[in-house]
Amino acid sequence: MSTLGICKLCELDKELQLSHAIGNAVFKRIFKTNSGKGITIRDNNSPIDYSSDSWAELQLCSVCERHLNDEYERYSLKALRDHRNCVKTPTCLNFRGVDQYKLMLYFLSIYYRSALSSQRPYQNTHIIKQHQKRLKEVLLGNQYLEYNEIPVKISRVIDRKAGGFSQENIKQILCAPFTRVSEGERKTITTCFLFEGFFIEIFITGFRFKNRNKHGILNKGKDNLYVPYKDLFSIPEIVDLMVLNLGKYQDGNRFIKD
Ligand SMILES: [Zn+2]
Repeated sequence: MSTLGICKLCELDKELQLSHAIGNAVFKRIFKTNSGKGITIRDNNSPIDYSSDSWAELQLCSVCERHLNDEYERYSLKALRDHRNCVKTPTCLNFRGVDQYKLMLYFLSIYYRSALSSQRPYQNTHIIKQHQKRLKEVLLGNQYLEYNEIPVKISRVIDRKAGGFSQENIKQILCAPFTRVSEGERKTITTCFLFEGFFIEIFITGFRFKNRNKHGILNKGKDNLYVPYKDLFSIPEIVDLMVLNLGKYQDGNRFIKD
């Protein structure tokens, strides 16, 4: 198979790499704890199964791939996994001195790559032409993006119920990005995904000015990043997915062991 094609970031005709919208480093951590296999849960009737598929496809050239990894991914994973620069309070996690611009661009790079991916798990993510053009320049470092243009919010997912999911369990859940369209007059569109125990919301249609100071909104102008807690069971899409897959599990529609 030819690996030549147009890179989806620099748009040059080059040899393409197997890219991951959600970085391989994230899958690796999950696979490591499950002896090389992730557990796939899907929004259809197919059985629950082990998988070592990390949803990769030929997308970017090696220069762009390296650029995204070096500039955003490596920094973000390190910053979010390092518990030494994070203080736990009853209502949020407080990260000091993290580069919120890099975090914001990391999550937007996942959005950008998911939306341009033809892999099935990413089929619910779409990007509008105007964002695609803008993000391409921003991710390449040619333009600067204000925090309120395509706002990104990060929350820590928790389950406070007795006997519920532990923090380690929650970190093992990786779900493909999904899109929410709000009810009501002013339609808002949000793309969301779960990632290493964090819930990421990307406000595609922007947000109201009064929300700009809410905890969790990534903003380069702020020294402290307050990451609010969010109850796992307050995310209806995840609950639906779990209920559907629990049903499959109980019906024996699975290839995994107990
Ligand atoms: Zn490229």
